[in-house]
Amino acid sequence: MKDVAYIALGSNLGQREVFLAQARRAIAALADTRVLGQTDAEETAAIGPIAQGPFLNQMVAIETELSPQDLLAALHRIEADAGRIRTTRWAPRTLDLDIVLFEKQSVREAGLTVPHPELSNRDFWLRELAALRSARVG
Ligand code: AMP
Repeated sequence: MKDVAYIALGSNLGQREVFLAQARRAIAALADTRVLGQTDAEETAAIGPIAQGPFLNQMVAIETELSPQDLLAALHRIEADAGRIRTTRWAPRTLDLDIVLFEKQSVREAGLTVPHPELSNRDFWLRELAALRSARVG
């Protein structure tokens, strides 16, 4: 099913701009997917109990035929290519990719919840999402 999805990109380790650019390129190259828009990257403080450097965040809107599950699998591969090693939940990461929202589909499964459960808690996600949506309409 063709749908519009919003992906949050975040990096707080190493060459953050480079990791975001690599992720954007990899997302643009996904099968049956085209990029509709992206926000400017913005810096935010890390959330959680471990002291660590600030994140560089960005949101990308895509039109895709991929299911939410297939998109998540693809995002995990892109994270792995960026050298992300999963240690603990709150550890610093070279690249973190989250599915924020699909316009038409929602998912509630072990391992995947869409809309992302943290959406209402993250002001910068809400702001970025609103910006991308208004750009699409306007
Ligand atoms: P994170 O540590 O932020 O990369 O998230 C770890 C796990 O969250 C992933 O392996 C996913 O299985 C799961 N997850 C659940 N819902 C989502 C979502 N909407 N986007 C990305 N990951 C999700």
